[in-house]
Amino acid sequence: MADSYMGKFLLVDLTNETSRTVPTPQWLKDQFVGGKGFGAKLLYDLVPKGVDALSPENVLMFFPGPLTATAAPSMRACAVTKSPLTGTYLDSFFGGRLGPEIKYAGYDGIIIFGKAPKPVYLWINDDQVEIRPAGTIWGTNALEANALIKEEINEPDAMLAAIGQAGENQALFALICCEYNRQAGRGGAGAVMGSKNLKAVAIKGSRLVKVHDPEAFDKACKGACEEIALSAECATYTDGGTSSAVPWSNEIGTLPYKNYYTQSDPQADKIGDEGQKKHLFLGKAACFGCPIRCSQMGAVRTGKYSHFITDIVEYESAALLGSNLDIHDPRAVAHLTKLCDEYGLDSMSAGGVIGFAFEAAERGVIQAPDGVVLAFGNVQGAEYLIKSMAFQEDDLGRLLSQGVKRASAVLGKQTMDYAMHVKGLECPAWGPRGTPGMGLAYMTADRGGCHQRGFMIGYDMGDEYNGEPVEMYQTKGRAGILIELQNFLAGTDALVKCDFSQCGVSPESFAAMLSAATGRQVDEDYFDLLGERIWNQTRMFNVREGFLAKDDTLPRRFVKQVLPDGPHKGHRVSEADMDYMRRDYYNIRGWDEEGRPENVTLQRLGLDKAPVFKERP
Ligand code: SF4
Repeated sequence: MADSYMGKFLLVDLTNETSRTVPTPQWLKDQFVGGKGFGAKLLYDLVPKGVDALSPENVLMFFPGPLTATAAPSMRACAVTKSPLTGTYLDSFFGGRLGPEIKYAGYDGIIIFGKAPKPVYLWINDDQVEIRPAGTIWGTNALEANALIKEEINEPDAMLAAIGQAGENQALFALICCEYNRQAGRGGAGAVMGSKNLKAVAIKGSRLVKVHDPEAFDKACKGACEEIALSAECATYTDGGTSSAVPWSNEIGTLPYKNYYTQSDPQADKIGDEGQKKHLFLGKAACFGCPIRCSQMGAVRTGKYSHFITDIVEYESAALLGSNLDIHDPRAVAHLTKLCDEYGLDSMSAGGVIGFAFEAAERGVIQAPDGVVLAFGNVQGAEYLIKSMAFQEDDLGRLLSQGVKRASAVLGKQTMDYAMHVKGLECPAWGPRGTPGMGLAYMTADRGGCHQRGFMIGYDMGDEYNGEPVEMYQTKGRAGILIELQNFLAGTDALVKCDFSQCGVSPESFAAMLSAATGRQVDEDYFDLLGERIWNQTRMFNVREGFLAKDDTLPRRFVKQVLPDGPHKGHRVSEADMDYMRRDYYNIRGWDEEGRPENVTLQRLGLDKAPVFKERP
């Protein structure tokens, strides 16, 4: 029976320089579907408890989904590993064309074990798998590595996942750059790649991706595209990209300003979509098969930072390297973002770390090196820190490259008051004081402080839920809404859909596309149960690593300091708020008081008796 799976995984052993393929198990497809689902189960099975994330025992995996590389709109891929930054489960999603190429080469996933004795890159050309010496490519930035490897293998159409210097030096929030402008950004997958002496994965394939019922699939994809075309929310992304969220976030009082001291920035419009367009906009771009086309290409054309091509800066980077640092020249923010991309640092964590460092310097806790000013509004100070964290040239850079959690542990207890992270992952750019549901989303996200596992801001601001308006500032009821969101998103992340397409595509259309592609007949409720299974699987990994209720918490600033101004002036997420929401959340999830899934929950989800994936290269 034809389906949209390619039928095998590629297992690579870098230590012994071998590789082989194994069939994609039917039980894995049935219970976990693909993408995040495969990642959640295989990380649990392949990485024993307590393994150092930067040791050869950790694995690095790349998964497309069952709809990637088909006509289904906006399907992507993910990197999955144990995070060196948090010690938790980590998945990090990326667009572009690398995911489709993995399937064209014939694989449902690539699983990388071990550590190469010397720097290498992997060249996968359909069935041919070569582990090649990286030579002088080691030491280059992520974009240079991409170009050099394509030249060396003489394949300009190959797709690449590469690390920059930050990954080589194992900065704990190093990213993987997929092609030139798509990143698996969060949580330090690039540091894991660096720890394996793996500079890049280059891949090219020539296979067709089949579907079970082409006619029904075509109809389902057309339906999904029509829904996207009619979606006002998708249209916002098409028009302005995510940078259009900057003025909105400021208006509703969630935009971080000066290391989240407050959540309102009087100059926010300068770094929003309109502000950026004046200086940067060139044209539109898109990931493979995406009708939304949220990407906006740009170039800095004037001023000190002119003459480089870049994406227009996305919301999270604009906020965390812009308003959070009190920097409002969009050209400077684009420059800082570009540096992060080239050296291979997660721009979100970089913004959080630099904000922390600026505040620590202004409080006299850290000293700036001679000739460097570490202060809010100082672009050169931010630039200095990005370089020093990527290259680890001095003690300050080495310390900060470990993230704010570790840095504050070294610098002293008082700095924890403004170390903005959850489980070690620097917070996203949606301040939760005044929006407690978003706070709960950060507390419970499986990879640490993350906004993409359940975006609660709309409900926190009074949107309707099941036909009833949600009351602002209330903690009651938030857990139930969030759990529904988390389950659905985890379920559709098994398809590795883009979060923005999910704003338009209905659960019915996701189900119709999956049914027609795979022959597994599912309905619109399917993703809720699938997502719940996946969410519990990632929780099992985190609990095994020692993460319990004490870790499901928010940074002190959100808990102790009320907002001094803005729409939510006087608000915080208190200890009592967190206690209530946490207990409610665990109760609905079927977890015990420490946040461990109860046996009855695991039995209901089929996780107690799931087979174990034991294949090794
Ligand atoms: S909406 Fe944007 S990020 Fe998502 S798939 Fe389309 S172009 Fe890529």
